[in-house]
Amino acid sequence: MDFMLTEEQKMLRDTFREFSQKELTKEYVRWLDENCDFPPEDMVRKIADLGFFGISIPEEYGGAGAGMFDLCVALEELATASVAMAISMGLTPAFGGRPVAELGTEEQKREHLPKIAEGKEKWCMALTEPAGGTDILGAIATTAARDGDAYVVNGSKMFISGAHVADWILLIAITDKEVKRSKGLSVFIVDARSPGVTINLIDKVGIHACGTTEIFFEDVRVPAADLLGSENMGWYHILGTLNPERIGTSMLSLGIAKAAFDDALQYAKDRTAFGKPIGQFQIIQHYLADIAIEIENARNLIYKCAWLCDAGERYDVEATMAKIVACRASEKAALHGMEIFGGYGFTMEYDMQRYFRDYKQMMFSPISDEMSMNYIAQSYGLPKSY
Ligand SMILES: Cc1cc2nc3c(=O)[nH]c(=O)nc-3n(C[C@H](O)[C@H](O)[C@H](O)COP(=O)(O)OP(=O)(O)OC[C@H]3O[C@@H](n4cnc5c(N)ncnc54)[C@H](O)[C@@H]3O)c2cc1C
Repeated sequence: MDFMLTEEQKMLRDTFREFSQKELTKEYVRWLDENCDFPPEDMVRKIADLGFFGISIPEEYGGAGAGMFDLCVALEELATASVAMAISMGLTPAFGGRPVAELGTEEQKREHLPKIAEGKEKWCMALTEPAGGTDILGAIATTAARDGDAYVVNGSKMFISGAHVADWILLIAITDKEVKRSKGLSVFIVDARSPGVTINLIDKVGIHACGTTEIFFEDVRVPAADLLGSENMGWYHILGTLNPERIGTSMLSLGIAKAAFDDALQYAKDRTAFGKPIGQFQIIQHYLADIAIEIENARNLIYKCAWLCDAGERYDVEATMAKIVACRASEKAALHGMEIFGGYGFTMEYDMQRYFRDYKQMMFSPISDEMSMNYIAQSYGLPKSY
């Protein structure tokens, strides 16, 4: 396995690193957290101008035709500067670009992919429902009933990131109630401004600049041409979206871990006690060493998953492991980071409080750590525990 980036990947990394250092300053990111439920449009345009949204769009539809690995290289830089920025920008490639490229008809690809590549469309994915996310097959109640040349959607979705700014909703709904649930779901491309769609923001603890919403669908007419993939194959289609999403969200957690580590390391060098920098005390050194080990582990596993994904190999178990390893790295970085900052870590004056609030979202989204552990255990042949 080659751990070296290609010249193109180094350029991509440097472009996003320089951009993040210049534009996503600590002051700007703090302002975002305190004032925004999504990054302002001028910042979205700047990121679009860097080519972010087209990285993994096929060349014939206006993208760079690169894969998950390259997307991770750019995402790592954004996420280290601002996880809220990275998650907000990552929604469209994950829930628009990839599903349409993989499942779309030629017409759907021509309609959406060039605009996605230019950053002119925003997407979100609506899978989770109020009755549950982990057991989504048991909880899902949103229906899409065929009526002439359209489907009529009724129901509600919960915790949907970025729907309040989205142009398009990747919706998963029941199209056949009579069969086993996994064989009766379909995926739709829904215009977020359709009559009957109501979207409300939900107050949450962290990642403020990527708002999360509830969505209500009341007799929403979706043209039959906006079915994505085959009718009643939605569950199997959406699994193809959830695995790459796990790689992306692992990268978001890694970004939080790296940012918390950098701040804690600097503080350990600057802060003195008993006439020495606190970074001279062994326990502080061990805290930092622990975080550094977990960051390195997570980073290696995430890039391995991206590499497997691009090679067309199976990577579902590895991506689920990466999700856990990266979450734990961000948790350790935020918790130890708080310790290293002492009382100041608990004030709003420093960013450690934000890492502490932000890392938690990644523990249960897009899949909880408990369910991830179930998935990994089952992959070794153990019986389903639920
Ligand atoms: C900020 C945020 C953003 C999100 N963004 C999106 C989005 O864009 N689109 C989308 O569709 N969804 C989104 N989600 C939903 C997310 O995927 C769900 O929250 C997640 O799947 C968990 O579902 P739940 O919250 O209903 O918890 P529940 O499913 O009710 O689970 C509650 C607890 O029970 C545990 N549990 C459940 N079953 C088992 C089991 N078999 N074994 C062990 N433990 C179990 C869980 O791990 C958890 O600890 C988001 C959530 C949040 C909070």
